[in-house]
Amino acid sequence: MKRITLAALAGVAVIVTGPAYAQQQIDWDKIQIKTVDLGNKTYRLEGQGGNITLAVGSDGIIMVDTQFAPLSDKIKAAIKAISPLPVKYAIITHFHGDHTGGIANFQKDGVIAVAHDNIRIRLIAGTTNAITGNKMDPRSGDAIPKETYVGGTKTIEVGGRKAILTHYYNAHTDGDTGVYFPDANVIATGDIMNSNHRYQNVDYGNGGDIRGMIRATDDWLKIANDQTKVMTGHGPLADKKVVAEYNAMVKTARERVEKLYREGKSEDEVVALDPLKDLNTTWAANPDQAKNFLKQVYNSFNTRRD
Ligand SMILES: [Zn+2]
Repeated sequence: MKRITLAALAGVAVIVTGPAYAQQQIDWDKIQIKTVDLGNKTYRLEGQGGNITLAVGSDGIIMVDTQFAPLSDKIKAAIKAISPLPVKYAIITHFHGDHTGGIANFQKDGVIAVAHDNIRIRLIAGTTNAITGNKMDPRSGDAIPKETYVGGTKTIEVGGRKAILTHYYNAHTDGDTGVYFPDANVIATGDIMNSNHRYQNVDYGNGGDIRGMIRATDDWLKIANDQTKVMTGHGPLADKKVVAEYNAMVKTARERVEKLYREGKSEDEVVALDPLKDLNTTWAANPDQAKNFLKQVYNSFNTRRD
């Protein structure tokens, strides 16, 4: 989770903290939005925060995620450069600030943010990250998605474009939505995985669980073929091979850590045993990330949801 101070809303440089933004100074003025054409009137926008996917229909646009509030005007300009049509829906993959920060700015324009209902609940309540203690303040009004869904799936159609939303319960958080655009053969994963060959934050304090990351990536491996374009929350445009590598990693991590958990080992004992040592050499950005990921996998079981 990324904590954004109120100064962020004014568009000035602020400190954003969290696993991916450890004490990073963001100068919003310097950030450019880069557009990549994925074919089939589908686009990728890169800026700062979760990558954005756009699907342009005959009378409107479907968008996935909104990045940070100070970037909304730049993102709107980048969309206008692609198409004059209005954005009808902004699908929100999960509640973290680098994906939800722009919701209010887009909904003010008439865009309907669509998300799993757990996102609405978490945004209204405010959240705390179990590892870092970083807090996200409660939100209200236009910052809350206007449309939410419960249950497994939801389909959104705009001007001939179809987005199939799937709720992967207890994965990166408890409100993750994966989005599949069948006509463009594009999958948007949110933060259930990344394409940087790095461990991903399992936000177990907010319902995250390594087993959901396995369920989701198993599902995408079934949907995907060699031409599928995979839009991860963070990292470059990916493909089925990247999903397969990540899927193998989360499965190995789960097997090793669950075994130790079932044997009755404590979190400290598991940390001391260092069961992911070999994986850490290529998947961990640094020793802190290695340790945090191990604790997060352990606590996927420790929360006793199973
Ligand atoms: Zn996230």
